[in-house]
This record gives sequence, structure tokens and C-alpha cells, in this order.
Amino acid sequence: MNADTQDHGFDPEDVKLPQGHFIDGKLCWLGDDGLEVMRPSDGRLLGSIPDASADTVDQAVRNAQAALASSGWGRRPPRERARILRRWADLIDADIDYLAQLEAVGSTRPIHDARAHEIPFTAEAIRFFAECADKYSGDVVSTRSDSLGLIVPEPYGVVGAIAPWNFPLSMASWKCGPALAAGNAIVLKPSELTPFSTLRMAELAIRAGMPAGIFNVVQGRGTTAGAALVRHPLVRKVSFTGSTATGAAVMTDAAHHGMKPVTLELGGKSPQLVFGDAGDVKTLAGRIARGFTSNAGQACVAGTRLIVHASVAEELMSSIIETTKSIAPGLTWDGATRYGPLIDGRQAGKVDQAVRASVAAGATLLAGGAFFDGPRGGHYYRPTLLTNVTSTTPAVCDEIFGPVLTVQTFTDDDEGIALAGHPIYGLAAGIHTGSIDRALRAMRQVAAGTVWINRYGRSGDFIIPTGGFQGSGIGKDLGRQAFEACLRYKSVLVDVASPAAT
Ligand code: NAD
Repeated sequence: MNADTQDHGFDPEDVKLPQGHFIDGKLCWLGDDGLEVMRPSDGRLLGSIPDASADTVDQAVRNAQAALASSGWGRRPPRERARILRRWADLIDADIDYLAQLEAVGSTRPIHDARAHEIPFTAEAIRFFAECADKYSGDVVSTRSDSLGLIVPEPYGVVGAIAPWNFPLSMASWKCGPALAAGNAIVLKPSELTPFSTLRMAELAIRAGMPAGIFNVVQGRGTTAGAALVRHPLVRKVSFTGSTATGAAVMTDAAHHGMKPVTLELGGKSPQLVFGDAGDVKTLAGRIARGFTSNAGQACVAGTRLIVHASVAEELMSSIIETTKSIAPGLTWDGATRYGPLIDGRQAGKVDQAVRASVAAGATLLAGGAFFDGPRGGHYYRPTLLTNVTSTTPAVCDEIFGPVLTVQTFTDDDEGIALAGHPIYGLAAGIHTGSIDRALRAMRQVAAGTVWINRYGRSGDFIIPTGGFQGSGIGKDLGRQAFEACLRYKSVLVDVASPAAT
């Protein structure tokens, strides 16, 4: 570890938090009740946020609608919007010291990860969508020659965005980037567990030249503030990231309150399918260990089901256990930390309960299955391996959102591919093999929105969309698909008058 990385540790008491909602270009509280926010690393009080009432949500949405009308954001030349978004991305990069501290003190992301990944990825995602602003257009379509058929894209108006707590800034950027580049206004509700860093993002948007009201942030609980946002009649589209259960509630609300389109990025239970010819076991072990322990397993795409050919199973499991032995937990504000806490006690209880229930159902604990001793006040779970599991074991069926890997073995390809499928989820899948034919056969058959072959995890290629099949969601974040989903398409038919009539 180099000195530079070590040096980025900080004192959590020194971080000044932005407070309130962000409406009409400024922070405000508006008389809502307060909601306490804890530090995941040590469980101590971090600060408070207002818990938006339906009235506050109404003000935020109406302000966004008015800002669209007064600023002409959606009617401006796309390259002008792109310029402002690019400036915003540059300001996010330049603000890395403060933004990374805000993210680290209030979330599960160690300061090293916030600096190395979260902040640069957030800025670059916004840049990517800025580039889309004038790259995708409508169509002139084939019609009779005495008419002209056009498909004309236009922004929806106000988009309601709801984000989870596991990657607060980057998840917000995946929602805001495409919606704003396409000419919409955004009202964002971050998770009530990680509410502060997106306020800073909103302040920087104003500095970049975004008109006040085009990017508003409302704080509060999901079932009140989040639901009020989805139900608001002026919110014309909803973009949501969170659990499958909440996604279903959001979709129901959207159907009953204006029949608005939804983009839903939901939970996962993603397989790592390892064939006997996958190559160096140590390399594989490192890849699979990172796949289920990154962010302490709190990643939607965490590869939490290892489906491995029996010929390499023993060696691979031993190597994964060996690899995870070196994982040590730490405070998110310590520059040396690479493995952070679970978000809170509720989530910790859920992880531990899923492991216990699986063992009670017959699973064998190969490693982990318990909390680390420290740091005090936080919840740090040991990387856990469970074998002797079946498709009905809780840890195989349910998304745990913790560092828990189940192991199932197979002896022929079809059996392995069948095990890789999941009855509910279809978010991502890893396929590991030295045979391109085997890889492509498996890729075709596994129901997953993203398939990684001989790697596991996203790259910085924002052109590749992400989104799940089945219970893992509807629609895509990232890619041109995410941009196009922030536009609605008007069909236009023009009759061309004959010369005699002109
Ligand atoms: P969650 O569903 O509990 O909450 C997500 C957001 O929805 C929060 O802001 C919450 O306040 C809000 N919310 C809750 N109830 C609501 C309601 N009735 N109406 C409107 N909003 C409501 O999820 P979480 O625990 O914050 O995040 C973890 C989940 O997110 C996991 O299931 C994970 O897989 C998923 N996730 C998916 C992706 C993806 O790209 N597919 C990315 C990150 C996280």
C-alpha cells in the first residue's frame, strides 16, 4: 500500500454535513420532522435529515416543473445541456476530497474505495450521458411518398428517482445523468440511510450552471417520501433502484397514479459458473472472493452462488477460503481499510439469520458464519462459505446482501447451466471456462441481464447497459438504452400537399 492511499484517512468528526432537502437551488428544511442518521462504521450518530411530508415532496416536484418552464432546460440546444453536465462532472472530480469523505463517513464505502472508484465513476457516468445529449435522435420513417412520417423524441418532464444506500453517489448519477441530458428535471430521493453526499452533488450542479430546480433532492423514508414522489401526478416517469419487494410496490403505485413508465433496477442472486477448464485456480479464487466480498457483499451484482465442476471444487473452495483469510475489517475513514461494515444492525441481523437458517436447513459452514470482533459499534461480517446446499436453502433462494457464498457442484455442463438459473432473480452471471464454445453456449442459456465471461464485475465502459431479467428488474441503467428510456416518442404524420393545392 502506498503512502498516498494511507494518507487519505480522516477524522469523521471534522466532516461538515450539508443539511436538509435541496430545492430550487438551495438547502432547506421546510418544517419536516427530523430523522437520525447513523455512521455505519461505529453506529454513532452522524446527523439528521428532514423526513419529507407529502407537502414537501409536492413543493419539490412543483418547483422542478416550474423550473423546466422558466429555464427552458428541455428546449435548450442539447450541446448546451451537455456543456453544463460536463462542467458538473469536472466539479465532482475536483471536489473529490470532500465528496469522498462525505461518502465514506456516511456509508459502507471505505475512503480508499470512494476515492478510487465511487467519485471518478460518478463523474464519468455523468460525462457519458452528457455525450449522449445530441447523439440519439428520432427517425424519419418510410411512409407513402405523399406524406412524411416522423418519430420525434421529447423529454417526459419531471422524473422521480429513488436510490439505494449501497453506492449512494454512483447510483444517483446513473439516474440523474440520462434524465438531465435528455432534458428532464429530476427529483431524487436518496436512501434515508445515506442521504448526505447527493446534496453536495446538487450544490455542484448549480455551480456548473444547471438552472435552480432542475435537480432537486428530497430526503425521507421510503414508504412516505418515496411513495409520495412516485404517486405525484406531475412525476411522469420513475427510475428506481432498490430491492425487488420495494420495486413491486413502486410499480404498483406508478400503475395506479398516472400509469407512468418505470425503470426498476432490483435485487440479485447471481451465479459464478466455473467449468473444469477454467484455468488457474488461484486466479479464479481471487476473482470469486472479490465478487462476493466487495462492499462486504452489499452489491446488487454480488456473485453469491458458486456453481463449480466437481473436478475442481475442493481445490477452488480451499483457495477461496485461503484468500478471504486475509480480509480484515476497518473503519471507513481509515485510509488502509478495504473491507467495511454492513450498513446497520437490521441488515446485519438479516445476514446472520440467513446463514443460521441455512445451517438449520442442512447446509455446512465451511468458513465464516460470524461477526468480526471489531471495530466497536459497527457490524462487520466474516466472509462466509456454505456447502451442502440445495435450491431450497435460504442462502440459495434469497438475496442476503452480505458476504455469503453458497457452493453447488455439477458433473456435466447442462446440469451446471441449469443450477445457474434462479427462479426469481436474473441480474448478472459469471462464466469461467477456457472454451469459447462452452462460454457462449452457457451465455445463451443463462437468464441474466449481464453476463461476464472470465471476469466478474463492471468496467468503466458505460456504453454497456446494466439491468436485470425477471425479478431483478425492468429496463436498463447506463448505455444508450438508459438515455433513450428518458425520452418519450411522438409519432407524427404530415400530409404533403399536391402541387395543385399550393
Ligand atoms: P430498498 O428497496 O429498501 O430501498 C431503496 C430505496 O427505496 C430507498 O431510497 C428507500 O427509502 C426507498 N423506498 C422504500 N420503500 C419505498 C416505497 N414504498 N416507495 C418508494 N420508495 C421506497 O433497498 P435498499 O436496501 O436501499 O438497497 C438494497 C437493494 O437494492 C438490494 O436488493 C440490491 O440488490 C438493490 N440494488 C440493485 C441495483 C441494480 O442495479 N439492480 C443496484 C444497487 C442496489
